Amino acid sequence: MNPPDALMTVTERPPGVMVRGEGSWLWDEAGRRYLDFVQGWAVNALGHAPPEIQNALAAQSGLLLTPSPAFHNRPQIELARALTAQCSLDRAFFTSTGAEANEGAIKLARKWGQRQRGGAFEIVTTHGGFHGRTLATMAATGKPGWDAIFPPAMPGFRKVPFGDVGAVAKAIGDETAAVLVEPIQGEGGVVVPAEGYLRDLRDLTARRGVLLMLDEVQTGMGRTGPLFAHQADGIEPDVMTLGKGIGGGVPLAALLAKEAVCCFEPGDQGGTYAGNPLMAAVGLAVLERLLDPAFVAARLQVAVRLAAGLDRISRTHGCLGIRGRGFLLALRLATPASGDVVRACFERGGLVNAPRPDLIRLMPALTVTASEVDQMLELLSDALAEVLPGSRTRG
Ligand code: PMP
Repeated sequence: MNPPDALMTVTERPPGVMVRGEGSWLWDEAGRRYLDFVQGWAVNALGHAPPEIQNALAAQSGLLLTPSPAFHNRPQIELARALTAQCSLDRAFFTSTGAEANEGAIKLARKWGQRQRGGAFEIVTTHGGFHGRTLATMAATGKPGWDAIFPPAMPGFRKVPFGDVGAVAKAIGDETAAVLVEPIQGEGGVVVPAEGYLRDLRDLTARRGVLLMLDEVQTGMGRTGPLFAHQADGIEPDVMTLGKGIGGGVPLAALLAKEAVCCFEPGDQGGTYAGNPLMAAVGLAVLERLLDPAFVAARLQVAVRLAAGLDRISRTHGCLGIRGRGFLLALRLATPASGDVVRACFERGGLVNAPRPDLIRLMPALTVTASEVDQMLELLSDALAEVLPGSRTRG
């Protein structure tokens, strides 16, 4: 391969160039095939190149790409209706990335704070949380060291430990406008809070008169089971952001809010591609598939098979168990060997991800089959047997 000498260095990538995908499979330029349980970082909800998205793109691209955000377009109106019909939120604003959706949530909270809470602007977020790579969303993110990369960090964020409602209660003051959390921390290492966390946060924020904003960029769109992860807790947030799965692989994200919170005035928020019909048409196609009852039932069964298999593997190889829900799962290693396990899987034609040195994350397409799950479990088990000292058997 020619070295990618005209690209800025922003990350380390394995050799090879990916050229084609289909369902759970990805091919590189050399014709090598990979079983993909990363799926564009939990993005391709329906797998690689699904016919639904191909058809939506073909149909919409022949009609209208972008009339400008200054005009209405039909797919955007319909997608906003379809999403708000599935949750307790009333209005949507569309963006291209999850970071932009969260940036919009931060702006909305600040404007709401000016209007409704005497100029409150601060947002309580969590250590280990991840909200994006714009300057504001980096400041909201709780990744260790991130506030020192591009100083000065944007002010207005206060961090508390994830899962600790008491710490949020202490952090809320006169200047607090909102609390922003992920229902399950994804990049932070698939951290599932104790039962009742979201419900307690909902009660607390309602009592103290601040907004509860949920970042469902990773957990939303069926990834953890229900269409939105917070629906498992039976709560209603004031604001929710979506990304990744909503576009099934194309750049689409959304900011949704309750009517009482929607305080943007003309000119406050926008963007050249905000709500463009090409991406909105894809969002509609993805949502339609995700809501198909037969699809939902099949996907939940396969997710249970994956969790059970991972659990078995964990015991066979002396790992520390699994965590996560639905198709957002992680295997906890007893040693900081996840980089080596990812490499050993890659060499065997399998793609998994290591958000932490001792954690293997799996986030397959929601269309993954039972047989593909079994293939991945075998491949992962072989990789663990190679990498982990003392582990020689297959799970
Ligand atoms: N929020 C969460 C919870 C995420 O996992 C991510 C991406 N990993 C983002 C926001 C940022 O989304 P994007 O990369 O589309 O800007």
